Amino acid sequence: MQRKYIVITGGVLSGLGKGIALASIGNILSSNYKVVPIKCDGYLNVDPGTMNPLEHGEVFVLDDGGEVDMDFGHYERFLGITCKFEWNLTMGKVFERIREKERRGDFLGQTVQMVPHVSYFITNHFIEVGENTNADVVLIEIGGTVGDMENELYIDAARSLVRRVGKENVLFVHLTYLPIPYGVNEQKSKPTQQSISLLRQRGIEPEILIVRSSEMLNDKTKNKILSVGNFQSEEVITGLDVDDVYNIPLLFEAQGMSQLLARKLQLPVIPDLTKWESLIKNKENARKEMTIAIAGKYTALEDSYASIVEALNHCSAHFGVKIDLRWIDTDKSVDLTGISGVIVPGGFGSRGTEGKIKVIQQCREKKIPFLGICYGLQMAVIEFARNVCGLSANTTEVELGCADPVVDILEEQRGIINKGGTMRLGAYSAIIKPGSLVHSLYGALEVSERHRHRYEVNPKYHKVLSDKGLIFSGVSPDGNLVEFIELENHPYFVGTQAHPELKSSLLNPAPLFKGLVGAAIKYSGLLA
Ligand code: GLN
Repeated sequence: MQRKYIVITGGVLSGLGKGIALASIGNILSSNYKVVPIKCDGYLNVDPGTMNPLEHGEVFVLDDGGEVDMDFGHYERFLGITCKFEWNLTMGKVFERIREKERRGDFLGQTVQMVPHVSYFITNHFIEVGENTNADVVLIEIGGTVGDMENELYIDAARSLVRRVGKENVLFVHLTYLPIPYGVNEQKSKPTQQSISLLRQRGIEPEILIVRSSEMLNDKTKNKILSVGNFQSEEVITGLDVDDVYNIPLLFEAQGMSQLLARKLQLPVIPDLTKWESLIKNKENARKEMTIAIAGKYTALEDSYASIVEALNHCSAHFGVKIDLRWIDTDKSVDLTGISGVIVPGGFGSRGTEGKIKVIQQCREKKIPFLGICYGLQMAVIEFARNVCGLSANTTEVELGCADPVVDILEEQRGIINKGGTMRLGAYSAIIKPGSLVHSLYGALEVSERHRHRYEVNPKYHKVLSDKGLIFSGVSPDGNLVEFIELENHPYFVGTQAHPELKSSLLNPAPLFKGLVGAAIKYSGLLA
């Protein structure tokens, strides 16, 4: 079949959920086709790895070690695929490549310009990703809002895709916002009209319009948009606000999305959303509720821990139980009253670490189910070393000359100066201890999870820690790196150096999260 490209642009506001909208379209197509996403970000960082999660949200890590935009989390979860670093373009990456090509002499004799050279490079990238992956459908998300200076080249590249691969193989989807101003109480379509016009000025005619709104579009508003945008009625979809983003594919489908895509792409589309729908219903119908706490330092922005929240959502659907999330800022509070399970997530630097250690001590002593992720595992090891082994333990990330550096920098990380893309990143395997809790959760003796760290449990302390009862339930294949820990005589005390939340999905929740939530359900007495 001819490869198809679906390009989504955004208008009016940023943050309307282009990623979710495109992932939902992909979800509908993925029952029948191989769908591959590309995300275009306008910033000049090569990747988001060097940005503050409080500003930019979570840094998503892929199997191949790529640090990418958090929208890739949605793509993997909605499409059931493993994405690649190459599928995230940033202006930093684009300019880096263009400069390399220029120095190599690829443009010899020419004046290298934004248009055509950079724009052409981006269009080529879209086509190459399609070819290299043998995708049936390539989804292209252009970050930002039409009219932003940052995404002009991406929009230009998408426009010229039509000329390169044929008009019938490119479908433009535009996502806008419908304000209903307070006191006016009327659906206002003007911003949508203006953003369609901005897109047209750039040579793009949107064929499907998704209007994000707190209400379904009424006839008057819809008719206005249809006439201004030259749309048929079924081409304008309401992107209704929902509490649960997993509802969006169903919301789109209820408005005829698969038929619309079939007509536009000239492909049969027969989505199978039954399992997806039944899991969502399972979550929505849940009546029992218990509280899980996330104790970290970036709690001011939930997006910093987006995949952890998602992994808990997946468990909520799996167990049919509501999870009330409690955010504990470890800078301020360590009160665990009413909490049935605790996650200490990944993190960097010294702020909040002593609070995390106190939280973990309570979990260990009061037998509250606990899952430590990356920094969370390291903090659990420090807590155990201090309070069970009697060491003056710390991580050298916080206290360089500490007496007992039970967590220390990885040997291979010593001497690395560049900060970008240099951590131990991506998928690494671990060999699991037979008969351990981690073994029973994964049901396998070798597992692969994604990583993002520079520090590790110091091998010099392996013996004293394990002599005192800390179980290393998973280690790297050479035996040097601690990948999983657990404790006996505790309902659930598990830590991992990896980030299992990154591979969790609605259909397959991450095993360690399932373990935590299962234990928390018991702890809360919901099973009694
Ligand atoms: N700061 C720790 C390290 O670099 C943990 C990193 C993380 O939690 N992602 O090893």
